[in-house]
Amino acid sequence: MLFKQIIGQTDVKDRLLGMVSEGRIPHALLFTGPEGCGNLPAAFAFAQYLFCKSKTADDACGQCPSCLKAGKLAHPDLHLVFPIAKSKDVRKSDDVVKEFRELFLEQPYMSLNDWFNTLDAENKQPIIPTEESNDIIKKLSYTSYEGGYKIMVIWQPEKMNAESANKLLKILEEPPDQTLFVMVCNHPEQLLATIISRVQQIPFYKLTTDDITKALVSQYGCQEQAARQASLLSDGDYREAQQLLQHNDAGSGFLAHFRAFMLIALKFDAFKATAWVDDNAKSGRERQKQFLQYSLEIFRDCLMLNYAGPELVRHSGEEKEFLNKFARFVHRRNYEKLVEEFNSAYYYVERNANPKILFMDLMLKTNELINIPA
Ligand SMILES: [Zn+2]
Repeated sequence: MLFKQIIGQTDVKDRLLGMVSEGRIPHALLFTGPEGCGNLPAAFAFAQYLFCKSKTADDACGQCPSCLKAGKLAHPDLHLVFPIAKSKDVRKSDDVVKEFRELFLEQPYMSLNDWFNTLDAENKQPIIPTEESNDIIKKLSYTSYEGGYKIMVIWQPEKMNAESANKLLKILEEPPDQTLFVMVCNHPEQLLATIISRVQQIPFYKLTTDDITKALVSQYGCQEQAARQASLLSDGDYREAQQLLQHNDAGSGFLAHFRAFMLIALKFDAFKATAWVDDNAKSGRERQKQFLQYSLEIFRDCLMLNYAGPELVRHSGEEKEFLNKFARFVHRRNYEKLVEEFNSAYYYVERNANPKILFMDLMLKTNELINIPA
């Protein structure tokens, strides 16, 4: 991974490059940021930069033997730790490191969901078990193969159990020479305070709409308008934006789905509701999340149209036409509650709730809310 492949995050890149040029690299870094911000690929870009034998002031060369190995996440001094679904055959990261590398190389902005889908472990609890910290200690006791840094990238350290975290803490207190920890995390508030106090935090920001739009156009060669639409709906999460674009549902796909949902919710019809819910359940969790996010965007635009003025409406074309008719159903007296219900549904989809029960419940609540007069 090269720095130039990382979307946006210019300040962070400058800060990391500055550490190297000034020779002030701490022994432990914590890359924090929301999902889809690119802190994982940045960790690997930073590792590759440190390993590179002919780096320039702003990037690794991408061609030296060290770069070639690091580019495949196969550098012998690069160690990977990430959450796994623990089983008889899988007890630590190395047991599934091949799968991890493959997924990352195909999808550097991968989410924990992507990873667990790959493992066919959607319903299992992601965990970094105690065996892993024993392994970390063992690996760090070896000298480095190439004489430089040993770099331990820990993705989602918040998934460590208490015993694991305490063992890691001991290492962080007395780090072995020439060792660098790069922890990559979305929820620093879930980490032990004692760990946080021993690492240098590098905050990544939520990607901007422009950053994401540009990156989508250059990766997929799509129309700018489609890219922008996906970007707006993704809320700064590049992985989410990719999925929105690929399903080509940033526009009419979800509109039809949303319109059907609302028509059924408006005059509740149990038969139609069941059909919609069954169909929706088959679409998979990612799409269900996108649908909920899309609905939230529509609600927002209804409010804009009703109270702020049409120029603040983000949707255009077919959606705008729909909004002109639909907006009157979303107003001051039900907006907040609708947002709360759809957000809460999102939360439970992420946590593997049964989609049929969840969406039927959402349909019934929406029926109540949408019929509140303005
Ligand atoms: Zn190189």
